[in-house]
Amino acid sequence: MNAKQLNDFSQLCIHTITTRPWTIEEAAKHFSNAGIGGITVWRDTLAHRSIKNTGQMIRDLGLRIVSLCRGGFFPHHEYGGRRSAIDDNKKAIDEAAELGAPLIVLVCGASVHQSLEDSRKHIFDGISDILPYAVDAGVKLAIEPLHPMYADTRSAINTLSQANDMAEKLDSLYVGVAIDVYQLWWDPDLQAQVKRCGKKGKIFAFHICDWKTPTADLLLDRGLMGDGCIKIKQIRGWVEDAGFNGYNEVEIFSTKYWSEDQSLFLEKIKHGYLNHS
Ligand code: ZN
Repeated sequence: MNAKQLNDFSQLCIHTITTRPWTIEEAAKHFSNAGIGGITVWRDTLAHRSIKNTGQMIRDLGLRIVSLCRGGFFPHHEYGGRRSAIDDNKKAIDEAAELGAPLIVLVCGASVHQSLEDSRKHIFDGISDILPYAVDAGVKLAIEPLHPMYADTRSAINTLSQANDMAEKLDSLYVGVAIDVYQLWWDPDLQAQVKRCGKKGKIFAFHICDWKTPTADLLLDRGLMGDGCIKIKQIRGWVEDAGFNGYNEVEIFSTKYWSEDQSLFLEKIKHGYLNHS
């Protein structure tokens, strides 16, 4: 594992959702001024704008667009719901291509109206369906397994093993996995599964934040690196040993941090990145 150079943020990427009160223009300007290397763009920030011009604005500020968040949510107990998910994912691929994002992160989805097995089948079928469209557009897809607490409505893919199985079955250079420490830190099989996807060159993204005790809200109380109990450095070491040399992406949903001054929060992110990840 490499030690981080003091004040080197070139491998740091921040998701726009992390600093949600900022517009994409504000976020890009602040990240660029701080010397941060990358930005992952959430689709909501692109509303009412030229996506192409926004991509250019970001590149002009010297930032790399790491990925577009997010596609997925394939499962639905009715055919119409599955069709509109396919349409929305194709739209996301169009947006990624226009923006100049090389990757879309997939939060795969789940439905309480059916079994997890059925939801996984819908996910597999959905990704298979959009894959040729993604290949044509030159946009890769990362399956992000989510913590099992989200298995009811957000994802039926809950371990890296399941994501690896699916990525391998889809068997395309355009399909890999996103490893998010918040989702996966608890899994005793994590190190072995990181090795497995690393060997196949399928680690497309690495997301970091921390797990707070207690966690006040299952969705909107993620911690900043150093706030919680995740051994982020250890997991980063596994991911790097497996061959990943991409960005460390800070992805934090937090009503607490969103209520703070975002410039001060950005300083905390930089500190947490250097010292606790
Ligand atoms: Zn994530």
